[in-house]
Amino acid sequence: MSNPSVEKHEFQAEIRQLLDIVIHSLYTHREIFLRELVSNAADALEKFRHLHLTEKEVFDDRLPLEINITTDDQAKTVTIQDFGVGMTREELIENIGTIAHSGTKKFLKALAEGNQRDVNLIGQFGVGFYSAFMVAKRVRVYTRSWHPEGTGHCWTSDGSGTFEIEEVEGQRRGCKIVLELKDDCHEFANADRIREILRRYSSFVPFPINLNGERVNTVQAIWLRNKNEIKDEEYTEFYKYQANAFDEPRYRLHFSADAPLAIHALLFVPQENPERWGFGRIDPEVALYCRKILIDAQPKDLLPEWLRFLRGVVDCEDLPLNISRETLQDRTLIEKLNKIVTGRFLKFLAEEAKNRPEGYDEFFRKFGIYIKEGVATDFTHREALAKLLRMESSVTEKGKYPSLADYVSRMGSEQREIYYLIGPNREALEASPYYEAFKLRGLEVLFLYEPVDEFVMNNLREFDGKKLVSADSPDLKLPDVPTPEAENALSEDETKALCSWLKDTLGERVGKVEASQRLVDSPAMALNTDFMSAHMRRMMRAMDQEVSNNVKVDLQINPRHPLIINLNKARETKGDLAPLIAEQLLDDALIAAGLLEDFRPMLGRLNRILEAAAQS
Ligand code: ADP
Ligand code: MG
Repeated sequence: MSNPSVEKHEFQAEIRQLLDIVIHSLYTHREIFLRELVSNAADALEKFRHLHLTEKEVFDDRLPLEINITTDDQAKTVTIQDFGVGMTREELIENIGTIAHSGTKKFLKALAEGNQRDVNLIGQFGVGFYSAFMVAKRVRVYTRSWHPEGTGHCWTSDGSGTFEIEEVEGQRRGCKIVLELKDDCHEFANADRIREILRRYSSFVPFPINLNGERVNTVQAIWLRNKNEIKDEEYTEFYKYQANAFDEPRYRLHFSADAPLAIHALLFVPQENPERWGFGRIDPEVALYCRKILIDAQPKDLLPEWLRFLRGVVDCEDLPLNISRETLQDRTLIEKLNKIVTGRFLKFLAEEAKNRPEGYDEFFRKFGIYIKEGVATDFTHREALAKLLRMESSVTEKGKYPSLADYVSRMGSEQREIYYLIGPNREALEASPYYEAFKLRGLEVLFLYEPVDEFVMNNLREFDGKKLVSADSPDLKLPDVPTPEAENALSEDETKALCSWLKDTLGERVGKVEASQRLVDSPAMALNTDFMSAHMRRMMRAMDQEVSNNVKVDLQINPRHPLIINLNKARETKGDLAPLIAEQLLDDALIAAGLLEDFRPMLGRLNRILEAAAQS
């Protein structure tokens, strides 16, 4: 083009790559381009509505806040127009074309992994606009910003390396996007086809959408309706629109309250926990409305952090109407809202746990991490949250998740404490020397497998007035029971002598060495007297923190165990071998405790022990 007012720009490299794929290799779900452009139009209208509350002067003040779509079957075009905020020349360049959103890369990666559904997710990666190029051979964006000064512009591209920007006169506020359809996409110039797509994806767009002059959506603030009149499908559809989701919600809670605040809330728990998909920490997305007007789509303090997996809407009639994101300063109001909504949701979960325990267990398997986070960080709701915890137990079968209350209901009349043990899995915990004393006494132990559990238990500290005590604590007080009979068990004097020999032999590696009241089947166990637990040590290492290799442990031995009995003899008769056995005994105990970090010194020693064992 020779027109001097036309400026040519290059697409940023990643966007070019994205466009190349969008244009040349995406042939399924192409209709979602419309959802993306309509939701951009709705976003622009929403932004304008806010602006209008605070800005004194705006361009084209009287335009209706609506979206107009027109199809032209002759010219093979479809046009999406909104009277939203529009874009200045600089915004055009910045928003579409030159600055690659961080989602660009992620989307490219998802596409490379070849899942058909990923196209459908384009909007979630913040690159929805480019989906227009799936169906259009040329895209024109006519736009005029709401700013009183300035003029209109037209952005044009065929999606290959460049785009052009030109000044245009007589442009109305907002955006008008004209798509010249590709030859194999002429269906989208057909009004019936477009109506069908709008109904499918854009029913709840909170602005009128007109197709060739005819209204196609009726605004439905579903959360304000009586819940007896709402069908499950309507809820699901609303959830999909509002949360940008593609699944069926796992839970839904719809309630209204009059006091102390007049609120209507509709909350959803998704099927899956997206933080497990590697997207990192998700943002809280329960939107805050006031009488159907969006105040903030992602209000930070409306709910506690650990409820960030919830989706939905909270509508509060008592919010001042001219409030905006920036001026949402009335903390006490938000705090009150937070308290009411969180309280209701916790009550809802408690009811689900009681009435539909299987569904709740599944919820806990997927979302329990948030409940745990809440227990550890939210003092206000700790007690209610603790009741919602689920974990395996030594007395229930694998895969069953009793609660702390279940544990308490099974406690014997003398038992004062709740015992738990943290480790990699059930098998390891059942075989752990720490569990032996509990098994012998018929005491229930809760089994926990996640690194956060230690943090959770340390913060919770007690439940129902009972202290939570780790089964590997050095200072446990368990009821006396007769120790199991054993032949040749070491006498008290022999035990004492062996202990002091062990202390001399192991030197700095151990603190106290003494006979254990807790061991049944294992020869020895290590009791961590360090302030840092095995889990903490691993976490510190993972965070690149210096952690010394020398853990402070006490060693307890089992005077009834054949290895201990034989070791006591060996220290007299096999002067060379006995110290090696002592060292290995300690290392074995450290392994069981998850405290041995460097296995290499063990190998040479084991070879020498094996050598002796192999000698006839
Ligand atoms: P997202 O909507 O997630 O930000 P998109 O690729 O859909 O990503 O849009 C990119 C940006 O282009 C938007 O953030 C917005 O700034 C701008 N934009 C797109 N469509 C419009 C529109 N109709 N009116 C005003 N700005 C728009
Ligand atoms: Mg978008």
